Order: sequence, then C-alpha cells, then structure tokens
Amino acid sequence: MAADIIDGKARAAALRADVAKAVEALSGKHGFVPGLAVVLVGEDPASEVYVRNKGRQTVEAGMRSIEHKLPADTPEADLLSLIAELNADDGVDGILVQFPVPGHISETRVLAAIDPAKDVDGLHLINVGKLAAGLDGLVPCTPYGCYILAREALGDLSGKEAVIVGRSKLVGKPIAQLLLGANCTVTIAHSRTRDLAGVCRRADILVAAVGRPEMIRGDWVKPGACVIDVGINRIDAPERGEGKTRLVGDVAFDEAVEVAGSITPVPGGVGPMTIACLLRNTVLAACMRRGLAAPDI
Ligand code: NDP
Repeated sequence: MAADIIDGKARAAALRADVAKAVEALSGKHGFVPGLAVVLVGEDPASEVYVRNKGRQTVEAGMRSIEHKLPADTPEADLLSLIAELNADDGVDGILVQFPVPGHISETRVLAAIDPAKDVDGLHLINVGKLAAGLDGLVPCTPYGCYILAREALGDLSGKEAVIVGRSKLVGKPIAQLLLGANCTVTIAHSRTRDLAGVCRRADILVAAVGRPEMIRGDWVKPGACVIDVGINRIDAPERGEGKTRLVGDVAFDEAVEVAGSITPVPGGVGPMTIACLLRNTVLAACMRRGLAAPDI
C-alpha cells in the first residue's frame, strides 16, 4: 500500500495561522508587534526570492518586516555595524542574514555578531549549544520543520530508531539533536558511513539531508517508515520540453512511496515549513526578550 503523503504546505499554512493568532494576542495584550529584520548582501536571484517570500509572509502574519539590501561589495565591517544597530533596536525581535554572503565576508563572524536572543535562524553558537544541552533557545528553522512533520506523522517519537543522512550544522546535526531530545535512538550517517543502505533500513524515521538527487532508493526504506526528505535538487526534465527542469528530493520518491508508511514530497514537504518556523521563532524571540511566556505554537 502506498504511503501517506505528508502535506508540508498545509501544515505550514496552519502554523502561519497560529503565528498570526499569537501576534494578534500579543499586540492586544502587551501592545507590541514583533519585527523581523532580513539582511541581503548582493544580488543572488535565489536569495532575492527567499527574502521576498520571507518579507511577504512576515507581513501576512501581522508582523513588521524590515529589509536591508546591501550591495555585493559591502565591506564586512559595514555589515557588522548594521547588525550592531539591529541588535540595539528595540523594535527588532529577529535578525536573519541571508546566506550565502559574498566570499569576502566571514559567515562565522556574521553569525557571532547577531544577538543570540534575536538569532531566529538558530545558528549562533549560543543557540547551537543550548540545543545540544537540551535548553530552551532558538532552533534552526528547517530542522524544526522536519521535527514538526515527523511528530504529526507518528505522534510520540519516543523509542523510535531515527537515521539522519547528512551531518551539516544547518540541517543534519540540529535534526539529530531534536530527535534525540524527543527520545529517539539516533544515528547520523554521512559520506563515510559504511553500508548506508543497511543503516537506512533500520530507521523508523529516515531523514535525508544530503543534496544528491534521488540517492536514497526504495529498498533502503524499512516498510512503514516515516521518510522526511529535506533535499532540494533541480534536475533536467527533457520529458517536459527542451531546457526544462524539475525539483526532486534526496529520496527516489516513486520507489519509497510504495514502501514507507508516510513520506514528504518534494516540493511541498519540508520546504514550506522553513519560513513558517522562521515566523514562529520571531514570535518566540519577541516573547523571550520581554520575559513573557511563549505561546504554544
Ligand atoms: P551539505 O552539503 O552541507 O551537507 C550534506 C551532507 O550530506 C554532508 O554531511 C555529507 O557528508 C552528506 N553526504 C554527501 N554525499 C553523501 C553520500 N554519498 N552518502 C552519504 N552522505 C553524503 O548540505 P545541507 O545539509 O545544507 O543540505 C542538504 C540538502 O537539504 C540540500 O539538498 C539542500 O538544498 C537541502 N536544504 C533544504 C532546505 C529547505 O527545505 N528549506 C534548507 C536547507 C537545505 P560529509 O559530511 O561526510 O561530507
């Protein structure tokens, strides 16, 4: 029997609606509206689309969107000064610098400059450390989106075998921490893992965060497993016409859907969750900074 398709688009829309409700309640009760500042350096077309979508969805959720677009040759010192201004601005609750930044700017120094209390990407070392230590902090958005989808598909995750393929600090490692925090037994696989197919076959929850189109085949999936595909890969699609392309995940969907119990599609699975979780983080940051109880979203 074919797997249940996990509808990330619908789940993300529901989360955005919950965020909007929380924003309305905060402004009614406490008289403030959370603000998210997004900084884009340079003119990378894909980054421009992401930043536009973030701004639009921030406003749709009733929050303030503050956008700073800087030229590609902006000196690192100028970017760090802008971050210092945003740190000091009481109307800014979340700060996100869109990566990648041009090569002359250090991502490490940029992340270190952001006030951890406003680090809605969850990538400042303080937040990385809090996640590892099991303390409340701001959690990276895509990993949290994966966690929400796995919880929705399976309910209680306690005791499940989770295998995460990919160990990046942006995706693989934080997902592993979240699933460990939910009492899964966690294996992190990577490019040096021996018998990757065999390791994947152990998983009740299989998370693919590799960046290789359709690498994970159907016979790597344990029957009934929950498969979360983080990969976004653009491949040629000559069947759609000359020069056409399409998006695929890291999992061979058509094969895995016949074996898994539930599976995220690409597109429409993990992808839409990222911005919804960013909006959630902005509300949480706004509450934490003011010593208010965080809404249950
Ligand atoms: P990275 O390139 O940073 O990490 C890839 C990981 O995959 C590495 O840990 C690497 O291992 C591992 N890997 C590479 N090849 C193999 C292999 N043959 N076998 C096993 N493991 C392998 O990628 P990211 O984590 O940033 O992103 C992963 C995917 O998720 C990409 O497709 C990206 O586009 C997508 N993504 C989607 C997002 C969204 O939905 N919003 C957000 C962010 C990313 P090693 O460490 O040993 O090199």
